[in-house]
Formats: sequence, structure tokens, C-alpha cells
Amino acid sequence: MARAAVPGGLMGRLDWRVARLAGHRDETPTARTLLLDVPGWPGHLAGQHVDVRLTAQDGYRAERPYSLAAPSGGDRVQLTVQRIGDGEVSPFLTEEMRIGDPFELRGPIGGWFVWRPADPAPVLLIAGGSGIVPLRAMLRAREEVGSRAPFRLIYSVRTPEDVYYADELRTPRPGVDVRLVYTRTAPDGARTAPGRLGLAELNSHGWPAEFAPNCFVCGPTGFVETVADLLLALGHDARRVRTERFGPA
Ligand SMILES: Cc1cc2nc3c(=O)[nH]c(=O)nc-3n(C[C@H](O)[C@H](O)[C@H](O)COP(=O)(O)OP(=O)(O)OC[C@H]3O[C@@H](n4cnc5c(N)ncnc54)[C@H](O)[C@@H]3O)c2cc1C
Repeated sequence: MARAAVPGGLMGRLDWRVARLAGHRDETPTARTLLLDVPGWPGHLAGQHVDVRLTAQDGYRAERPYSLAAPSGGDRVQLTVQRIGDGEVSPFLTEEMRIGDPFELRGPIGGWFVWRPADPAPVLLIAGGSGIVPLRAMLRAREEVGSRAPFRLIYSVRTPEDVYYADELRTPRPGVDVRLVYTRTAPDGARTAPGRLGLAELNSHGWPAEFAPNCFVCGPTGFVETVADLLLALGHDARRVRTERFGPA
């Protein structure tokens, strides 16, 4: 009975669907956004993810989670994948997959690491590397619904070439403050030397804990754990600090 209530038909969110690559765009030398057609996609909230399943000709299967990179929009779904040199799945998705190629996908998955457009509370987004992907979906969702919730994004990257969605993030938007932190090479003219994100940046570019912002932290495991500890040290309420770990540091 519950399955019949799922928007988009009789399929449930944990049934595998066939997705096809409809287009792609390179974000950095090692990250690619995939535009997918997923007939009957039921819609999703910013922050949710999907599972992708690849099946080799000999029947061998590999499955990995990927965040949804844009808000819900009909049967079109976007993912952005960082290529991991010795990885099993990400090199295929970013280098080998051709337009029209089919593969399996299921979702949307996750109900905690989500931004709900009706929530007017301030939002603090903190990303490390590819952890920007679900946070970009939240920024886009804010814009699409015309939310006036004030957003601040702190985005930690190694070098200027590693910034995903660079044009989008450079475009000024009322109520959205974007701060980039470079860990290895800062752009020419930068006022601060490269370095890891620490208390000082969170203090000056985040929201004060008294504002009770919803905090979303996403990236490599070590990054997420460090930032979550810093937010708690700054007095943020643990119930408002939501985290998503993408894997090894
Ligand atoms: C909820 C969730 C959402 C995710 N969303 C995204 C996303 O939007 N974009 C994205 O690019 N990835 C995302 N990931 C990570 C993704 O699921 C895979 O782990 C990643 O693509 C590596 O898979 P692989 O098969 O290429 O590498 P594997 O064959 O699994 O691993 C190869 C080697 O790389 C290391 N490794 C694995 N994952 C990572 C990683 N994330 N960073 C650095 N080293 C790693 C492994 O320890 C191993 O040594 C997400 C993970 C989770 C849990």
C-alpha cells in the first residue's frame, strides 16, 4: 500500500531505476557533473543522495552513494563525481560513461541531512572538497523557492582550480555569503595564506551560536569530524549540526 503512495508511480525509492547519461560538464580537472534522465523520478529534497549501481558484463556489481547536486526538477537528476585515481566506480562515471549509456540508480535516500525550504532559520554550510555537492543543491533550492533564509557557505579547497561550480559561487546573491578557504595554494592577491579551516574562520565567517543556525557539514571523514568538533566548541547546539561523511580524508 505504501508503495502506491510514492509520487511518480508504483515504484518505491529503494527500487532500482534505469538512468541514462544525458550530458556532462567538467567542474575541475578531476570532477564532472553528470546530467541524468531518470524516467519517473519521484522528486527529492536538497541534501539527499542516491545509490548508483554498475554491472559489468560478467555480472560483477559495484554500488556507491552520490549526493544529488541540484534541487528536484522533473526527470532530470544531477550528480557531481570526484574521480578517485584508484577507485572502482568514480573513474568510470567521470571518464568512461558516454551519452545515452544506461546504469542503475535508486533513491532519494536520507531524511536528516536535508534543508527544508519552509525553514526560515539561518543556515551555515561548510564543505571540504567534493562535500560541496549536496550544499550546492541547498543553495540552488533556496534560490528556486525564493527563500530569504540567510545562508553562509565556507568552502575548503586545496587550490583555486579545485573549486566546483565556480561561476555560480562567484555570482553575488542577496542573503548568501560565500567564503573560500585554500589549504595548499591561495589565488594571487589573497589576503590570507593557505591553511586548514580553523576556529578563526568559523568564528569570523560562520554564524554566532546564539543565532541558532542549521549547520550542514560535508566532506572527507576527518574534515567533517574536525569541523563538527569546532562548531560544538563554539557553542553550537549538537542537534543543529548535521554531518555527511563522504569517505577517507
Ligand atoms: C552519503 C554519501 C554521499 C556521497 N556523495 C558523493 C558525491 O556527491 N560526489 C563524490 O565524488 N563522492 C561522493 N561520495 C563518495 C562516493 O560514494 C565514493 O566513495 C567515491 O566516489 C569513491 O568510490 P570509488 O569506487 O571510485 O573508490 P573505491 O574503489 O571505493 O576506493 C578506492 C580508494 O579511494 C579511497 N576512497 C574512497 N572514497 C573516497 C573519497 N570520498 N575520498 C577520497 N578517497 C576515497 C578508498 O579508501 C580506496 O583507497 C559520497 C559518499 C557518501 C557516503
